[in-house]
Amino acid sequence: MPLNVLLLGPQGAGKGTQAKRISAEYGIPHVASGEILRVEMAAGTELGRRVRDVYDRGDLVSDDLMVELIRSRLAEDDTRDGFILDGFPRTTVQAEALDQMFGEIGRSFGVVFALQIPDDIAFERLRRRAELEGRADDTDEAIKRRLDNYHRETEPLIEYYRVRGNVVPVHGDRAENEVFAEIQLALEQAAKRPDRDSGPVEGAWGNREVPPAAARRS
Ligand code: AMP
Repeated sequence: MPLNVLLLGPQGAGKGTQAKRISAEYGIPHVASGEILRVEMAAGTELGRRVRDVYDRGDLVSDDLMVELIRSRLAEDDTRDGFILDGFPRTTVQAEALDQMFGEIGRSFGVVFALQIPDDIAFERLRRRAELEGRADDTDEAIKRRLDNYHRETEPLIEYYRVRGNVVPVHGDRAENEVFAEIQLALEQAAKRPDRDSGPVEGAWGNREVPPAAARRS
């Protein structure tokens, strides 16, 4: 059965790093919406030119455009055994469109990880990345905008998925290996479930925010 994973969390929480590790360990592709846009921009395509200003400012690209990009990416063959989505969905409109897409292709998320870190740490990490990678949207102003956008548009998705029963909150301000070990544990629990596309996964830390299935059903 395919393993479909979503990583939620502000930029700088370590989604990309963890997604790459999950991808390497479980052999499923890392689908990063921001990376798809960066490839388009670097290639100088029409789409790349269209999104550049919005991207550089740290604002969100239109829902319609992102939904179509993700729809065609998820239709590719390499997602047959699952995928790790990183950076999409970022708005409720996108999450609803994804639900509809999942309905059509018979998929759902096995686990939704919510990587959480305080804003000041996210800010510092993004600043450091700016020095290392020189990403156009890693200016102070764009970083602030992206974090504001995260809180306003994307953070509500934690609740959106929590009520569907498969959110695993992860404390992201720790060593990369520690975070990954926790992610692996949750993925292994998910893999053991008879139907890993539904039901809650308890966090390795004894998370109390995700009630056991029995409690939720009563
Ligand atoms: P990321 O690499 O995920 O930090 O994304 C970089 C930028 O790409 C964001 O600041 C947005 O401008 C754009 N972007 C990426 N994913 C999305 C999305 N799902 N919806 C809207 N804009 C996005």
